[in-house]
Amino acid sequence: MDLICPIGLRCASEISSLLSPPSPLQVQDYYHNLLSARACTGITVKQDANFGKGLYVDRDFKEGELILKDPMFVGIQHSLNKIDCLVCSFCFRFIGSIELQIGRRLYMQQLRANESDGCDVGNSSKHSHEMDSSDEEESTQECISGSSKTKVPLPDGVVESLMNSQLVLPYSKKFSLPPVVPCPGRCGEAYYCSMSCAEADWESSHSLLCTGESSARREALLKFIKHANETNDIFLLAAKVISSTLLRYRKLKSVSIEEQVKHDTSSFLNHNNLSILLEAWRPISMGHKRRWWDCIALPDDVDSSDDASFRLQIKALALESLQLLKTAIFDKECEPLFSLEIYGHIIGMFELNNLDLVVASPVEDYFLYIDDLTYPNKEEAEKITQPILDALGEEYSIHCEGTAFFPLQSCLNHSCYPNAKAFKRDEDKDGQATIIAQRSICKGEEITISYVDEDLPFEERQASLADYGFRCRCPKCIEEEP
Ligand SMILES: [Zn+2]
Ligand SMILES: [Zn+2]
Ligand SMILES: [Zn+2]
Repeated sequence: MDLICPIGLRCASEISSLLSPPSPLQVQDYYHNLLSARACTGITVKQDANFGKGLYVDRDFKEGELILKDPMFVGIQHSLNKIDCLVCSFCFRFIGSIELQIGRRLYMQQLRANESDGCDVGNSSKHSHEMDSSDEEESTQECISGSSKTKVPLPDGVVESLMNSQLVLPYSKKFSLPPVVPCPGRCGEAYYCSMSCAEADWESSHSLLCTGESSARREALLKFIKHANETNDIFLLAAKVISSTLLRYRKLKSVSIEEQVKHDTSSFLNHNNLSILLEAWRPISMGHKRRWWDCIALPDDVDSSDDASFRLQIKALALESLQLLKTAIFDKECEPLFSLEIYGHIIGMFELNNLDLVVASPVEDYFLYIDDLTYPNKEEAEKITQPILDALGEEYSIHCEGTAFFPLQSCLNHSCYPNAKAFKRDEDKDGQATIIAQRSICKGEEITISYVDEDLPFEERQASLADYGFRCRCPKCIEEEP
C-alpha cells in the first residue's frame, strides 16, 4: 500500500525547491535580521557543516544572567488545558481576573462532571457555552482521574458571581490581569490580552482559521479541528504554519504587484510566484529537517518489528488531517503547501523541536500571597478563600501548557553539561522562551541546554537522546562512556 498525494506529483519541482536547504548566506541573513528585530545583543547564530546551527555568545555572561527571550514563531495551548486556563491566544498571558480564572475553571469542571456522569464515555452531548471546547477525550480523562472526589463544591451562585465579577476576592487587585478581548471574528474560541494581540494573531494566521459564524470555512474548519483534537493537536500547529505562510505569501505578492504597477514592468508579471512563495516559506525553511513519519520515535508499546507499519499509519493519519485542512483553506496559488511532503516536514519540525510552552498561573501566586498574610488579615481573607480552595481541590492552580516553535531556542544544541537552561523568572508572564546562563559563559562559547534530565545515568541519557536522532558526544558523555 502506498499513499498517493496528487499535489506531490503535480508540484514535485516546487516542493523540492521549498525543501532544499537554505544557503549559508540565507541562514546568516535570516538570523541576523531576527536577532536585530528582537534587539538581542551578545548572540550570534553560526552554521557548522557537521552539527548544523548553533548559538554562540560574543560577550561574557554571568551565572543567572538572562541570555535571550525568544517569542514563539507559532504556538498552541493544549486543548485540555483550555478548560483550566484562560490565556491570550497570541502571547499566552493569563487574562481576565483571578476571579474569572477560578470561576471559569470551576464552571468547566462542573460541566465535565455532568457530562461524564456514570463514565458514559461514548456520549458527547454538545454544550453551547461559547468557551466550551470539550470533547469525548476530555470526559474520558476526567473519569480516569476521578479527581473530583476530594473537592467540596461551593454554594449555588458563587461560581457565577466569580465569573461575572460580582464577587471580588480579598487582595485580588494586587494580581490584576489584562482584560479579555474576544476574537474580532467572534469564534468564541480565541481570546486576547489586547487589541494589538488580537490584530497580530488575525494577521498572522487566525483570519484563515477562525471558526466565527460569518466564516465560509467554518464547517470544514470545525471538522479539521475535531480530527486534530481527537488524534494529535500537533496538526493545529501545522495548520497555523500553513496559514501564516499563505498570508505572508499574499502580502508579499500584493507588494510585488504594487511595485510592478509603479514601474510598469508588466512583462515581469506571473513569472515569480514561486520565488514569492519561497520568500514566505523562509522562516520554516530554517527549521524543518525530516518528515514526521520518518523521525517520530517508536512508542514503547509498539514492537520494533512493526516499525514500518507504524510509520505508514502515522503517514495515513497526516494525510487524513491534511485533506480536512485542504477542504477548509486551500489556495491554488500556494498548492505545494498542501502536499503531504510539506505537511510531513512541518510536523517533523515540531516533532524534533517540540518545545513545551509553559506559563505559570497567577492563581497560584494569589493563594500563596493569602497564605503569607499575618493575623488578623489572613484569617479574615481565608473566610472567603478557603471554601474556594476546597472547591478547586488539590491542583488549585494549573499552568498554561502547550507546544510552540521558538526560532532561536530551536538552534540551541544539547549538552549533558549545559551552560544554559530554559527558565521562567517571576517577571516572565507570557509564552516567550527565556534562556538563562546556568554558569558563567565566556565570549565565543556555544550556548547549550540539556534536552533530557542531565542527572540521569549515561545509558539512560543516550537512550532518551536517541529519540532526537543523535548520540551525544559531549565532554561528560565522553568521560562516562564505558
Ligand atoms: Zn496577548
Ligand atoms: Zn476567531
Ligand atoms: Zn552528553
